[in-house]
Amino acid sequence: MSSTQFEIKSYPDMWESLGMDVARFEKMRCVLGDVFQTTFLSQENRPQRMDYFNWIVSEIHGGRIREILDAKKEGRPVVGTFCVYVPEELVIAAGGICIGLCGGSQGPIPDAEKTLPRNICPMVKSAYGFKVAKVCPYFQSVDFVYGETTCDAKKKTWELLNREVPTYVMEIPQMKRERDRTLWFEEVKDFKAQIEKVTGKTITAEAVTEAVKIMNNKRKALQRLNRLQHHNPSPISGKDVLLIEQIAFYDDPVRFAEKVNLLCDELDERVKKGIAVAPASAPRVLVSGTPMAMPNWKAHNLVEKAGGIVVNDESCIGTRYFKDLMDENMTDLDSQLKALTDRYMKIDCSCFTPNDDRVDQVLKEYRDSGAQGILHYCLQFCHTYNIEAIKIKEACEKAGIPFLAIESDYSPEDIGQMQTRIEAFLEQIKG
Ligand code: SF4
Ligand code: SF4
Repeated sequence: MSSTQFEIKSYPDMWESLGMDVARFEKMRCVLGDVFQTTFLSQENRPQRMDYFNWIVSEIHGGRIREILDAKKEGRPVVGTFCVYVPEELVIAAGGICIGLCGGSQGPIPDAEKTLPRNICPMVKSAYGFKVAKVCPYFQSVDFVYGETTCDAKKKTWELLNREVPTYVMEIPQMKRERDRTLWFEEVKDFKAQIEKVTGKTITAEAVTEAVKIMNNKRKALQRLNRLQHHNPSPISGKDVLLIEQIAFYDDPVRFAEKVNLLCDELDERVKKGIAVAPASAPRVLVSGTPMAMPNWKAHNLVEKAGGIVVNDESCIGTRYFKDLMDENMTDLDSQLKALTDRYMKIDCSCFTPNDDRVDQVLKEYRDSGAQGILHYCLQFCHTYNIEAIKIKEACEKAGIPFLAIESDYSPEDIGQMQTRIEAFLEQIKG
């Protein structure tokens, strides 16, 4: 696909049938296509197998939606999600599809602010705005939305969202004691019952075994990509890895794992031949913090435009989503649900207290990735990540690691200021 041909494909009839505001969505589609072109397709020396991921973006509001609608016709559940604390294995075991609905765009925020307070995080406002403005074909296609209690803004927004689309809420524990694990185990069992109710089918142990393999293969592919991203000089840009990680929340998991592995084969070759996207001297940055929903590419774009390279994402779009596999050796449902509980309780979201595991994990990933500095990125009004940044900063000071904390939203207004701070940070890394 040449850079001059890129277009996010238009499916007005299908969008109409989903009850969308088609005229408005058309404009958003064109803007997204233009931004994608300048942000991604203008990069030099991209791996050839990024073509698949470009294609997925071009079909993000069409081809993939058609697949989802076909699945629904077959009685397969389609669940919209906002968090990685979703027992995806159970949705897959029911033949279903999980779709990330997190909003990463400024566009629908004014729609949300007609109802929601302004001073909550942009992700919640963007996501809610996509639904009330009817400008997201995914939101219009899901059977129900999975909400969770990881933060107050989300927790309270689900009550309002439930008026627009059925919203099922799971209680995520906020501590990791035995009693919290028991609570989550009960929640997992209830979630299984919810999926069974939606589909009218019973989830079997065999189906869970298959689903665990599918999810583990997807996680292993992303882990492999992450290891290749660590190579110096890097065979792929941090921006492209971020894009792939975002697509992980939309694409079919089996096809996605296959395509990521094919890309990794090419990256292996590039490493052998010394083909890189940035010189070995480029400052290497680990990004940590709040997950970046598509199309939030701001921080990565600024780092790489300034001559740095992002070599790792410690967020739920990145390693927090795929670092832990699930035990595949359980054959009965009770043991499977317990193993599932164990796997999800390892997620070190900042909603937990205490959450020192995350500080250790950030330092581990810093060392593993060969990064030279940590950029802590946080969305405005995301109190848990904002406050937790203090502990990460202290740990960095102790270890002598260059550290920069940035708080931002989805508007372009702070780009100049962010650029100045990131450029100064890269200079500090260079020493
Ligand atoms: S940061 Fe926490 S709330 Fe957000 S997706 Fe990750 S686990 Fe969920
Ligand atoms: S970014 Fe922070 S405040 Fe926003 S939804 Fe996620 S956890 Fe809540």
